[in-house]
Amino acid sequence: MATSVQNIIEKYNKDKTRLMDILIDVQSERGHIPKATITQIANALDISHVDVEQTMSFYHFFSDKPTGKFAIYLNDSAVANMMGRQKVKETFENETGIKFGDVTPDGLIGLFDTACIGMNDQEPAALINGQVFTNLTPFRVKEIVRDIKAGRPLDDMFTAAYGDGENRNELIKSVVVNNIRKKGPILSEDYTPGIVIWKKLPQMSPEEVIDEIKKSNIRGRGGAGFPTGLKWEFCRKAQGEKKYIFCNADEGEPGTFKDRVILTERPKLLFEGMVIAGYAVGAQEGIVYVRHEYKYLQKYLENLLQGARDRNLLGKDIGGIKGFDFDIRIQFGAGAYVCGEESALIESAEGKRGEPRDRPPFPVEKGYLDMPTVVNNVETLCAAVKVLLNGGDWYRNFGTKDSTGTKLLSVSGDCKYPGVYEVEWGFSVSDILEMVGADEKLVQAVQVGGPSGSIIAPNEFKRSVCFADLATGGSLIIIGQQRDILTDIVLNFTEFFIEESCGSCSTCRNIPYLMKNKLEKILDARGVKKDIDDLVAWGKILKVSRCGLGQTAGNPILTSIKNFRHLYDEKIQKDKDFDSAFDMSLAVKESCIAAGRIPTLN
Ligand code: SF4
Repeated sequence: MATSVQNIIEKYNKDKTRLMDILIDVQSERGHIPKATITQIANALDISHVDVEQTMSFYHFFSDKPTGKFAIYLNDSAVANMMGRQKVKETFENETGIKFGDVTPDGLIGLFDTACIGMNDQEPAALINGQVFTNLTPFRVKEIVRDIKAGRPLDDMFTAAYGDGENRNELIKSVVVNNIRKKGPILSEDYTPGIVIWKKLPQMSPEEVIDEIKKSNIRGRGGAGFPTGLKWEFCRKAQGEKKYIFCNADEGEPGTFKDRVILTERPKLLFEGMVIAGYAVGAQEGIVYVRHEYKYLQKYLENLLQGARDRNLLGKDIGGIKGFDFDIRIQFGAGAYVCGEESALIESAEGKRGEPRDRPPFPVEKGYLDMPTVVNNVETLCAAVKVLLNGGDWYRNFGTKDSTGTKLLSVSGDCKYPGVYEVEWGFSVSDILEMVGADEKLVQAVQVGGPSGSIIAPNEFKRSVCFADLATGGSLIIIGQQRDILTDIVLNFTEFFIEESCGSCSTCRNIPYLMKNKLEKILDARGVKKDIDDLVAWGKILKVSRCGLGQTAGNPILTSIKNFRHLYDEKIQKDKDFDSAFDMSLAVKESCIAAGRIPTLN
């Protein structure tokens, strides 16, 4: 056993910045990371036990206790619940005889909840030892548990056929389907891998590449919308022995799954985009930070990277350009939404807790290993290839003046055709509802941009999806009339933020929790008007948190109060100005039962 851990450590050259990889491999091999192994890793990497433990305890998919030979992580996102997760969960519990959070006494099966796994278009879904199981039903759960108990290998358990496209690739073999519903420049098949590297780059200086990107007016697709050309220019001008290009493929915003599809169907386009960025800024290394939930793509992606090296699309003197050396590696996360924030992502790639850094300095000056670093979204890097291929002017023909190009939307929830749509910026929400087969009259709300975005009501469906109006990283969740917005959506999203806060700032650590309590009080019909006022005031305080997670953690409540105020007003007590919400009977219930004073209290 110990030799195996040693082999893992040596595989990563005893490099402490590769701590994440070491922990991922140990967790995957042993099902947990025991104390003795933490000590072994710390000694081998010459860092403290606490350093290893801190990193380990930060990520959802690491555990110091056994997680079972078959660790089942069932997605608990709002859309999973909308699509029947509760019955699936109950069936798992009935069939295994344990509750979620536990492992069967024989150590065979562990059941765990997990945040959105990027499969909102095929929910309910679960990860079992990293394999994705989609469209779960109680019947399917019974089959899975029966097969596990019978000792059937995981790979043999897919009764459904493999998914479409590259999901059938020998190196993926997954039941995931792409659900590509509308293609544009990024998803189009009209692309010859390496064409820009061979035909364009040798004729352009790095500055000319940056100028073309600037001309296209492309802005970051992660949600913040920073101009990509400017970011590259800052990094090119920054001083540093080495420079890095990061691709942020940690799409953890519940409801987002478009990067999953790009990584499956257009990874060569992404890699070429990273090479172009590397050439432009003078970087030597690229790192694709991929969320742990997409680990099932690892062999496939690494094989493609090797193929690119074999074709001189990576490595030395790329594309015949003397002195242009650039390579790419894949870094997996281990389950932490906050790592989608660029500085947290860099910390994580350095083997640390994914806690956002104070800024400035920004990553373009001081990023990975304190060197100038560009962090771009998957989609942004893909678009850069098309910009170089066809020109910035061509690219500006798509979209609006302020938001040029196309946007990949991940659409899920109450509609006929959930999936990925590549649309030009500027489409209205109504246009999109029609496209995805959702009857506008039956739609109660649309969650734009995931939990960190806004929940909008029908009177806003004419608004446009673009940076100047409804900016989004790409998630659209359609909420039908039959849903209870406050319980099914707002409460779920608020709990998500509580779970995902890194805990550094007192605002973000405490206020969402207090807001959730207050929301529950209102849902229990014990709220008063002042509770709604408090929620608004506290949500404003949250906006001063250090990073985007804390700044947006109040959004589910704030935007629902703004756009669905009547739902709150209907639940509060109109005849009271104050209700402490303190229930003495409930507070002492447990101790009374323990002391045997009162057998039960209602
Ligand atoms: Fe961490 Fe929240 Fe502060 Fe961001 S706002 S640094 S997630 S505690």
